[in-house]
Amino acid sequence: MTRILFWLALIFLVIAAIRSKLKSASRPPEQQPGRPRAAAEAPPQAEAMLCCAHCGVHYPASENVASDGRNYCSSAHAGLPAP
Ligand SMILES: [Zn+2]
Repeated sequence: MTRILFWLALIFLVIAAIRSKLKSASRPPEQQPGRPRAAAEAPPQAEAMLCCAHCGVHYPASENVASDGRNYCSSAHAGLPAP
């Protein structure tokens, strides 16, 4: 009788171990412990880029020099006529 109880307990433990292994394997990767969330890996917001009306180079909008309704990369190009 003791042998039967031992084998039943062993089988139950093996099945429980397999079920918990399958449950953790089917979870999405961002919910697994030990991994950072996808939102934490997101890059910072990119700054808008503008195109210089004189030389055509793309530059950050924070460095914009507006003149006569057009956008320029520098004050030197803002004073020059478009090519
Ligand atoms: Zn320019």
